[in-house]
Amino acid sequence: MTVLLKSLKKLRNKAEINEVIIPAYTCYSVASSIQNAGLKVRLCDVDPNTLSYNLTKLQNMPFANVLCIISANLYGIPNQLQEIEEIEEIASENGVYMIDDAAQSFNAKYLEREVGTFGSVGLYSFDKGKNITSIEGGGIITNNSELAEIIDSYYSKTLDNSIRDNLMTAIKVIIYYLFLNPLLYWIPASLPFLNLGKTRYEEIIEIKKYSRLVAPIALMQIKRSNQIAEKRIANGRWYKNNIVVSKTISKINESDHGMPVYLRYPIKITQKEKREAILTHAKRYGITKSYPKSLNLLIEIDKFLVNPGEFEGAEEISRQLITLPTYAFINNNDRENIKNIIEEMTA
Ligand SMILES: *Cc1c(COP(=O)(O)O)cnc(C)c1O
Repeated sequence: MTVLLKSLKKLRNKAEINEVIIPAYTCYSVASSIQNAGLKVRLCDVDPNTLSYNLTKLQNMPFANVLCIISANLYGIPNQLQEIEEIEEIASENGVYMIDDAAQSFNAKYLEREVGTFGSVGLYSFDKGKNITSIEGGGIITNNSELAEIIDSYYSKTLDNSIRDNLMTAIKVIIYYLFLNPLLYWIPASLPFLNLGKTRYEEIIEIKKYSRLVAPIALMQIKRSNQIAEKRIANGRWYKNNIVVSKTISKINESDHGMPVYLRYPIKITQKEKREAILTHAKRYGITKSYPKSLNLLIEIDKFLVNPGEFEGAEEISRQLITLPTYAFINNNDRENIKNIIEEMTA
């Protein structure tokens, strides 16, 4: 993302165009990539019912210094009804680029079109916890050849991983896959060097070439990504069809035109104490809270945030959201257990 942002900046080639619009609730590393590219963050609030941009607010942003808008497509769910196209439209009307952030939604589609192919350029992540993972790495996709050349030239100048780094990454990949099982997941989760399930803001992003030792692992998965996605889709749909909405439990509105891949399945628990109880007692089932704060409340981004303030939608999401695991090892029993625990604890 940092390389991509630097490349867009170079392509635009205007000193005063240095702001990037991002949703006030998204992955922290999106904000830190902006910082690392020497750019500034402009936050836009999100709609707590869809987890996507509040479109009215997005339309009314001051675009004078904006370089690009970044989508989010969180949990493998394409940005809400019409929205992904509308973000594209708002970007082109205002003469700014759009990055379609598909880090969490490899294989998700919107009206037959792959998420990641909207806007000027798309981004996939093969980091830990993503649909396809080799612990590190990612991909950039664009049909803008001028941009592609700039990205290439940045990439060719970045450092190679050392042999030691490559081996360490390979070992991490092996541990990750050996224990990616609900009953054993606590083993890698308790190994601090894997940094699983933790969300912290990383101020400095070290940019290196994608490890040649682990890239084939991602490629292997890409080749069978439909099968990998199928399992996640089935698990996500099961939660969607079987978890009963109540005064305390609500689901996210999804687009009728979207084909989500459900990297995780998000639900909202509106009562604070009950949510806390679920997060404490059901941790071993892989239920997690996702990003603990909306970006406006992260002190680390203060120095490069151009519009501090309240972002009610994003703050509500960070207070209420929990996410359920969908990876291949989750079986019927696990899903039933997860559903029962949530329903019992919110009764
Ligand atoms: C993980 C993630 C990223 C960053 O990807 P990395 O490969 O970890 O740098 C960007 N955006 C979103 C929404 C993500 O979930």
